Amino acid sequence: MHRFVRPAPTSARSPQHSAFRRQDPALVRHHDRAASRDQHRRMLMQELTLTQLQKSFVNASRREAGLIKPPFDPDTFDWESHDFVGWADAKIPQRSYVFVPVDGEVRGVILRAVPPSRSHRSAVCAWCEDVIAVQGIRMFTAKRAGDAGRRGNTVGTLVHELFDCSAHARREPTGWEGRDDPEAFVAKRVEKLRANAEGFVRRVMDGK
Ligand SMILES: [Zn+2]
Repeated sequence: MHRFVRPAPTSARSPQHSAFRRQDPALVRHHDRAASRDQHRRMLMQELTLTQLQKSFVNASRREAGLIKPPFDPDTFDWESHDFVGWADAKIPQRSYVFVPVDGEVRGVILRAVPPSRSHRSAVCAWCEDVIAVQGIRMFTAKRAGDAGRRGNTVGTLVHELFDCSAHARREPTGWEGRDDPEAFVAKRVEKLRANAEGFVRRVMDGK
């Protein structure tokens, strides 16, 4: 990818050459893909300690956050293969947590699961937007941060209840989805997932 950002040697800067560089669709596609891959590396979840997790909550009191523990060992967990992390609380019914990088900083959100409605047996997850994994999707609400949350203001979202969207976004495309360039298809989906997750957390944080 470096050849697309490095200035061309002076001798090569003829008008035709510049035009060629701008218009060659193969070069443009390659550049977009490389830039997009770099973006993914930057935004992957980074290792967090239990204290960092507890301090990251935007809609929990310090006391509430101090009681929250992940169902895995944060020291050995594979953080880097997740765009975000979430789990259901094993002891408090209907309660789940998600941790999403926003502007490079992980933010934690307490979610409350809305009881499933019989009329909505399948749906599209608003985070990974997968049209194949349409089961196990649940409506969750989050108390907004700060004053808005104290006034009872909430934000809703429809998301895979196992929070396994990172895997759904990385599934192989079907023939019609990404026959020409499966890698670009997955990269685009991962990017969309991250933007959707981040957008949700931003809406929760808006209450501050
Ligand atoms: Zn999903």
